[in-house]
Amino acid sequence: MIIVLFGAPGVGKGTVAEILCRRYGIPHVSTGDILRTHIAKKTEAGEKIREFVDAGFLVPDEIVTEVVRDRVGKTDCAKGFLLDGFPRTVEQARELDKIAAERGEKIHVFNIDVPEDVIVRRLCARRICPKCGAIYNLEFRPPKKDMLCDCCGAALAHRHDDRDEIIKVRLREYGKMTKPVLDYYGKKGMAAHASGLYSEEVINKIVGVLEKK
Ligand SMILES: [Zn+2]
Repeated sequence: MIIVLFGAPGVGKGTVAEILCRRYGIPHVSTGDILRTHIAKKTEAGEKIREFVDAGFLVPDEIVTEVVRDRVGKTDCAKGFLLDGFPRTVEQARELDKIAAERGEKIHVFNIDVPEDVIVRRLCARRICPKCGAIYNLEFRPPKKDMLCDCCGAALAHRHDDRDEIIKVRLREYGKMTKPVLDYYGKKGMAAHASGLYSEEVINKIVGVLEKK
């Protein structure tokens, strides 16, 4: 089983991914994590990746595909995997088709859809602990003591990019960036929309599609 998740910042993709991975016993393969690990371990690929990142460029498709291919070849991916942050381009999507064909597996693509005003409200209510990194949400997961971290007691902060106008710009950029890949899957009839206000709703829809057969 190969699951591909798309979702703008603030749709709760991390939560959805975590629950699906637990349910199906597959690893959560995040491109961002893989790239960071390669950089941290100073692998051959990591050194190349660092050059692009430092220069402010996107990491080229060949390098991203190579490290993803390497990751999903590991034994924990034998039963399948969930991809997050890949494919980002049509070229990467074609490469993923090849990987799936080699493994004889089907790709299930889901686009998590949450109304923009809900995302904006949710991200605006987000607070993070600058000391330990814990994340709170004034609506869903408020700290026990007013604006202080439950774990370490530090004063919570509002991230600069969790503000209205900036969120809207990020959402627009995300939409522009993913459109070609979603169109690619849409034309092949492969992409399903998983819309919902809450993660449970989104997960139920995804599970419904996956377990229909
Ligand atoms: Zn803290």
